[in-house]
Amino acid sequence: MGKIVAFSNQKGGVGKTTSCVNLAASIAAVGRKVLVVDFDPQSNASSALGVFDKRAKGSIYDVLCDGLEASAAVIDVEPKGLSLIPSSSDLAGAELELSQIVIGRERVLEEKLADVKDMYDFVFIDCPPSLGLLTVNALTAANGVIVPIQCEYFALEGLSQMMNTIKLVKKHLNHDLEFYGVILTMYDSRAKLTKGVVEEIGKLFADKIFDVKIPRNIRLAEAPSYGKPALLYDSRCSGAIAYDNLAKEIIQKIK
Ligand code: ATP
Ligand code: MG
Repeated sequence: MGKIVAFSNQKGGVGKTTSCVNLAASIAAVGRKVLVVDFDPQSNASSALGVFDKRAKGSIYDVLCDGLEASAAVIDVEPKGLSLIPSSSDLAGAELELSQIVIGRERVLEEKLADVKDMYDFVFIDCPPSLGLLTVNALTAANGVIVPIQCEYFALEGLSQMMNTIKLVKKHLNHDLEFYGVILTMYDSRAKLTKGVVEEIGKLFADKIFDVKIPRNIRLAEAPSYGKPALLYDSRCSGAIAYDNLAKEIIQKIK
């Protein structure tokens, strides 16, 4: 059975997209089938996988708001085994359109993914940096959520809102939603600041922090401009290696 995983944190720029795309690529590279759903109007996951609006057959916006079947919007990307439902800027209008649905506005994505999810081992949803109806739809559709946290001073700001949203979705919309864990991103083991932040995160999440930490690595930031996940851009860089290792941990832990 496919597992749907939402990558969410309402804080911007913490490594949601980088984690989502690179983990998806690493998991596909070891022979699993993975679908990335780009659920952010910024479309960063789509461009990071080399897909821009023009090439797309249809976007997640068309799936949500225009009656397109999810399967009809799927594009195969590299590496083999990795697929994408791209986003587009009109997804920004979807929150408003969804809000006008009287019954079931939180379940639109869940229903749309129902016919594709079992074609994959994992469906990864890259959420936008907000806690609006798009994120609620993602959390309602998901089996579990992964929260990337950047190891810097304001890391914990807003996190209680995020955790509260997860709690509310679990209570009202998706009883089985699991908290898979926290990914520590842009980690610098030598920095004093990182140590302090990691300690604080440890107090909050204890055993829910993935063992593999993602180092700050310029290659991870460069790869999207080539439309490639890091393992196809520079498979030996520390970032690609870390995501490969984290992918193994995730395959083991998320069953
Ligand atoms: P948004 O909230 O805007 O969707 P995000 O949480 O998806 O952002 P990313 O886009 O993954 O965050 O990362 C933010 C920026 O930091 C990007 O420019 C990305 O390339 C860079 N970045 C992410 N992870 C790393 C890393 N480990 N080392 C260096 N740069 C990184
Ligand atoms: Mg993003």
